[in-house]
Amino acid sequence: MRFFDTEVLIVGAGPVGLVLAIDLGQRGVRCTIIERKTAPEFLPKMERCNARTMEIFRRMGIAARVRAAGLRADVPMDVYIVRAMNLPPLVHHRYPSVAEARKEIDACTDASMPLEPYQLISQYTLEPLLKSIAESLPNVTLRYGCEFLSLSQDQGGVTASTSRGMMRAKFLVGCDGGSSRVRQQLRVALTGEGDLLRLRQGLFLCEELFDRIPIGPGPGHGRHYHVADEHATFLIMQDSTKHWTLHAVLDRDDDMKRQFERTIGVPVKYDMLYVGEWKQNLLIAEHFAKGRVLLAGDAVHLVIPTGGLGMNGGVGDAIDLGWKLAATLQGWGGPKLLQSYEVERRQVGERNVAASRYASLGRRKWRSLWRNLDELVPVAQVEQRKSNEMIGAELGYRYIGSPVIADEPGGPEHDFRTYVPTTWPGARLPHVWLQGHLALQDHIGKGYTLLRLREQNTSGLERAMSRVPFEVLDVRDRRAREVYGYDLLLLRPDMHVAWRGNRPPQDPSALAALVTGHG
Ligand SMILES: Cc1cc2nc3c(=O)[nH]c(=O)nc-3n(C[C@H](O)[C@H](O)[C@H](O)COP(=O)(O)OP(=O)(O)OC[C@H]3O[C@@H](n4cnc5c(N)ncnc54)[C@H](O)[C@@H]3O)c2cc1C
Repeated sequence: MRFFDTEVLIVGAGPVGLVLAIDLGQRGVRCTIIERKTAPEFLPKMERCNARTMEIFRRMGIAARVRAAGLRADVPMDVYIVRAMNLPPLVHHRYPSVAEARKEIDACTDASMPLEPYQLISQYTLEPLLKSIAESLPNVTLRYGCEFLSLSQDQGGVTASTSRGMMRAKFLVGCDGGSSRVRQQLRVALTGEGDLLRLRQGLFLCEELFDRIPIGPGPGHGRHYHVADEHATFLIMQDSTKHWTLHAVLDRDDDMKRQFERTIGVPVKYDMLYVGEWKQNLLIAEHFAKGRVLLAGDAVHLVIPTGGLGMNGGVGDAIDLGWKLAATLQGWGGPKLLQSYEVERRQVGERNVAASRYASLGRRKWRSLWRNLDELVPVAQVEQRKSNEMIGAELGYRYIGSPVIADEPGGPEHDFRTYVPTTWPGARLPHVWLQGHLALQDHIGKGYTLLRLREQNTSGLERAMSRVPFEVLDVRDRRAREVYGYDLLLLRPDMHVAWRGNRPPQDPSALAALVTGHG
């Protein structure tokens, strides 16, 4: 039997593979990430990390670096529907800048807001940053210019054939995007609606546009400009405010320049740096894992970018998987821990596909009225919001029916649009400010945490959890107790609630076994 080159082999250094590598590296797991490109590319894709992703980045200790590399905090995120940018807008939806959102979060006392606001950062900025963070971790090895070709697995590990030779690992994770070869090797099918619409995307460098935008209250006040036309045109500001992407249903690359000029409506100097085609899909994989091979990110779910649940959903996958792989490799995680990955993340993938469909149908509805602006405007006022107001899908997802969560029957309905804080087992711990404006989330450790909001003798559970990373956090805070609704909350390493109660568990050993995958 060949020795192990690494504990976890990650295929694909997109944002999802890189986040997984950082999480594993921080947890002391040796991992290697292979990427067929020779370096990150300057190609436009996502541009918005949502609030949940930013909370995750805060827990990883990298949120400040992401913000420093991304869009300035004072630029608002307004969305406009226009005929062209030099004409009065048809619809204008106000969305706060990061600085404004922070003020709202600071003043929020009912746990209905995230700890971190969103951050606009283009994928071509985020990927090199994540790469440099991953490279700084001693457990993480990055190999660019190395293509994954095929795999075989046995009881002890996975052997991968790559363009640079064979590699053996205990686990392999396919983070290799929409046409994932790892998924194909596992013969896992994607189901849903593929190739719904093809758009061209152009990346433009225009130094002066941000300061010269003709509509709105001041310079550089918008993020998305949707044009009411037959080409489904929209313009998106990127993180530098000098780069812009234009999307439109057009046949030829050359048409994109004319469409950019028509959209702006005033003469500007610009360069078109790139143009390419992309497809809209609403697809989900039938499985997220087979044996020692797991799949994450676009490899298992493809959504329409409306709502921004693509990369953000993939970061959620990575963060669900990282601690479970670490627990398994470190010997304290039971078999159900890794099995729970598919149960937990596939349902979120399904909900995200549904949320994305809901948002894109809304957009399609107002776009179909482009010939009659009097009809379009009232419809767009309502329907466009579905793409930009997704806080329920971002924060409110809860793992149902997981074998490692002490589920309670019933539970609140999932709603894409609104977030209602809850500690129902499976949910993310809502953000609460403590006395002195300290965030409770910042005190939650990297292992399991028993949050004790009132005096209780929990020595039984402490003993039962003594073989796994575990700590007790005593918080005597009236508001936190009110919001959380229970005296005791057992949190997992990913800050999701595993169990709650007003008395210590009746059978602490059984609970410990359940949440660590031995139940
Ligand atoms: C126009 C547009 C706008 C978007 N906006 C947003 C947004 O605002 N928010 C959001 O959350 N999402 C958005 N998305 C979606 C987002 O870009 C994707 O969900 C995200 O890139 C998925 O990340 P990933 O790491 O799973 O896959 P990818 O980014 O596709 O990365 C996969 C990596 O694997 C590598 N790879 C593939 N095959 C192999 C192989 N055989 N061997 C080695 N390496 C391999 C690839 O080169 C690539 O680097 C947008 C997408 C588009 C097209």
